Amino acid sequence: MSQAHNDPTPMNILLLGPPGSGKGTQAERLIEKYGFTHLATGDMLRAEVREDTELGRMAHEIMAQGKLVHDEIINQMIRNHIARVVQAGGRAMLDGYPRTLGQLEFLLNCMSDLGSELHAVFFLDVSRETLLERMLGRMICRNCGAVYHQRNKPPRNDMTCDICQGDVERRVDDTKEKIEQRLITYSEQTEPILGALESSGLLYRIQADRDAPEVFAEICRELDRIAVAGKA
Ligand code: AMP
Repeated sequence: MSQAHNDPTPMNILLLGPPGSGKGTQAERLIEKYGFTHLATGDMLRAEVREDTELGRMAHEIMAQGKLVHDEIINQMIRNHIARVVQAGGRAMLDGYPRTLGQLEFLLNCMSDLGSELHAVFFLDVSRETLLERMLGRMICRNCGAVYHQRNKPPRNDMTCDICQGDVERRVDDTKEKIEQRLITYSEQTEPILGALESSGLLYRIQADRDAPEVFAEICRELDRIAVAGKA
């Protein structure tokens, strides 16, 4: 799916937003257009759970409760991934990380230690009603993480991924009760990141209640503007 972009200019971005705001969907499109390496902590943790590693066993219960895995564990898990991308001159797109002020601080230090920086943060702003509708119909590919929706975007072939032919399934934490808990966790622990980034000049608020192609077009406009302005 990911078609490497020819432009080697470094560009490191964050996708921020509540669960169900469309980060995964936008990530798929952005990878294809800009050649980002997708670093999604939720996907990494689900892989650990599937492989029944020590980390997976520890994270499983916390994820099932809609709570957050401890900062120290997440920071250690993501650090090498970020370093690998940045040191290879690639473009990192972080999705679902950072989720706390502590993780944000760690990330900014990590980037600076690597002699790099963040170029933009896209906050996908979505009403609660839309979030619930999206998550209650959401399905993902077990293998590549591609996102589908029961009604709006079902896989072409039953429960088989259009992209990698992996199994498509519902997420165990996409039930009404767990979604409610995840939204509480988001507003208590993740939302403060927006305030912390307000004066950084990096934050782009995107009205993301709209269809995915419209949201994507707006993110692309901003990214292209940033590249032209020489910020990236
Ligand atoms: P996601 O796929 O991004 O919605 O993440 C699924 C679950 O994994 C979350 O509800 C958390 O339990 C856990 N998780 C993912 N990313 C993080 C993170 N950056 N910090 C702590 N927990 C995380």
